[in-house]
Amino acid sequence: MLKTTISGSLPKPFWLAEPEVLWAKWSIEDAARLEEAKRDAVRLAIRDQEQAGIDIVSDGEQSRQHFVHGMLEKIEGIDFLNKQRIGIRNDRYKADCPTVTSKIQRTGPIHQSEVAFARRQTKRDLKFTMPGPMTIVDTLADNHYGDRAQLAMAFAGILNLEAKELAKAGVNVIQFDEPAFNVYLDEVPTWGVEALNLAVEGVTCKTAVHICYGYGIKANLEWKAGLGEIWDQYSKILPALASSNIDQISLEFAGSRVPFEVIELLEDKKDLLVGAIDVTTLEAETPDQVADVIRKSMKYISPEKIYPCTNCGMVPLPREVSMGKLTSLVEGAKKVRSEI
Ligand code: ZN
Repeated sequence: MLKTTISGSLPKPFWLAEPEVLWAKWSIEDAARLEEAKRDAVRLAIRDQEQAGIDIVSDGEQSRQHFVHGMLEKIEGIDFLNKQRIGIRNDRYKADCPTVTSKIQRTGPIHQSEVAFARRQTKRDLKFTMPGPMTIVDTLADNHYGDRAQLAMAFAGILNLEAKELAKAGVNVIQFDEPAFNVYLDEVPTWGVEALNLAVEGVTCKTAVHICYGYGIKANLEWKAGLGEIWDQYSKILPALASSNIDQISLEFAGSRVPFEVIELLEDKKDLLVGAIDVTTLEAETPDQVADVIRKSMKYISPEKIYPCTNCGMVPLPREVSMGKLTSLVEGAKKVRSEI
């Protein structure tokens, strides 16, 4: 009970990529050496989580430069040479995004070798993350489909093929990252959840969706500052997710203004990954602070359904900060477990 896990990403070592930045450039140009370095970094990421005592570990997303574009590189129909600077997350920030130029197609396995490698490194349960359909569509320029919902469904079909294979390769939890769900609130109950349902159809392992308020970068902090005293975005989308086919919902609570009452909207139908670690601060929370978040969530959902987690990915943080946060997450969960 109260098994700990993380949202997905961890900081990369300096010899793999420039530290403490998003979309960091690889430190190595030679392709074979880069592959070797990525694998070494995955070993370390898993080892760090095991050492901290995390129950359900991830590969720390060490093999991808960006949580959306890393996957798209292997999909046909997307032109990475044709990048367009567009406003994403409802124009919260600008990003150079590749362009969909023809029908998208998965021509072969995308993450299978990464997953097979990570699987061999640990006996613990393994989580693997992929971007969700709505977030993919929001992080791309589109010159072909001309309809976001239609493009999302096309990506959902590709994600589904991939997810089914990764489950067979031994992944225990496949998580789709959907930060865009917190932005396009009206579209989540319609095509957002429909696309997710398609992505998990027939997938044999547990499935999760992660919805957060983003990394601690300036544009996000400014956006959050303008969201008011109570962040009520989740209350608009959780009813639709409660009736979705996703098993687990990952939400942000630590240091946020999300009221814990929103958990009731899941109607006890889902597991809840409780974000108990703030990824925007450079100091690890104390185990007591973590325990406090878990206890508050337990007022609305039984501990059997709770998985203490980070608010979001920790890739932009210094490695020692991230390690401290992992340890506190585990210690905080332990404290609450001892009280039950
Ligand atoms: Zn996140």
